[in-house]
Amino acid sequence: MKALVFNGPGKINYEDFPDPSIDDDRNLIIQVTKCSICGSDLHPYHGDKIGKKDYSQPTEKFCTGHEMIGEVVEVGKAVKNHKVGDKIMVEAGAGCGECQNCIKGKTNLCTGYTVGKIATAYGLTANLQGGHADYFQVHNADIGALKIPDDVTDEQAILLTDALATGYYGVKNANIKKGDVVAVIGQGPVGLMAAEAAYAVGASKVYTIEPNESRRFKSKNFGAIPLAPDEAVPTIMEETKRLGVDAVIDAVGKSVTIKQAIKMAKFGGRVSILGIIQPDTAIPLFYPQMKSITIHGGIAGIAELWTDLLPLVQQGKIKGENVFTHQFDLKDGAEAYRLFEAQEDGVMKVMMTP
Ligand SMILES: [Zn+2]
Ligand SMILES: [Zn+2]
Repeated sequence: MKALVFNGPGKINYEDFPDPSIDDDRNLIIQVTKCSICGSDLHPYHGDKIGKKDYSQPTEKFCTGHEMIGEVVEVGKAVKNHKVGDKIMVEAGAGCGECQNCIKGKTNLCTGYTVGKIATAYGLTANLQGGHADYFQVHNADIGALKIPDDVTDEQAILLTDALATGYYGVKNANIKKGDVVAVIGQGPVGLMAAEAAYAVGASKVYTIEPNESRRFKSKNFGAIPLAPDEAVPTIMEETKRLGVDAVIDAVGKSVTIKQAIKMAKFGGRVSILGIIQPDTAIPLFYPQMKSITIHGGIAGIAELWTDLLPLVQQGKIKGENVFTHQFDLKDGAEAYRLFEAQEDGVMKVMMTP
């Protein structure tokens, strides 16, 4: 088959790669119909580290990508919920598939590491090949994949594999309820989806904060109030009569945005951090304690959130519009990565077709 293959930092090439074959009875193979690049795919591309994995060092080749949908072409003997011909969406990563948390769909809380099994996203190492490819092996398919309902579009299904589910995870962890006033910091795909999901669960007002102008105003589409970072705290404090907001979702995760989130939150408020925090990111604890703020972190368990999210999408409460700005054939994937990384041409998210 053909796939986008990691050949080192900055070198993701469309090339020949061995077809996947089922290596566990719980797995299945899809023919990928659509796939997308996530911001976290850029860590290998930049030669960064993820955990102990250092992508600046020579690495066995692997197919990239953890956001994909496709048609089932082969199922393992133990798979119960899927059959050949089904069109399915796939959770961005896989846990051990055996522990109590994985069985509940909480693969983000997989305890498999205690027996040497590591839960991770697809497309980051040769151990769990990615879906920027003609064919892709879904692990633990009964847990981490779901048939796409007819009234869910390809764009929405791809968003459900990661960005929308992650955004919603922030909403859930910030315990957003009917009538809440909310701020979302960062308006990349995850932040934008978090803001739309906050309205879907009943937020009365959502401020969205983003430096990049081509991204900042997208949330106006569903009624949010866009703000530039330097005007955010003063505007929000003035409009909330110096109380602050009920909940803040930080979809950036840098020291500066976490501090901003803590400033914006009211006494007794909630802050949910979705952005990937680096080991040296500092979080001040003085103000959260003085203001009795609850801070929640975490990496989303995607599949367990589909139960909540699918009805919201099907009822039109979450549309996921204006996220995909560019379309590519998979063979032009190297250019898709380049453009996405450079944030050229107002790119928000790219869709690729094998
Ligand atoms: Zn991702
Ligand atoms: Zn597990």
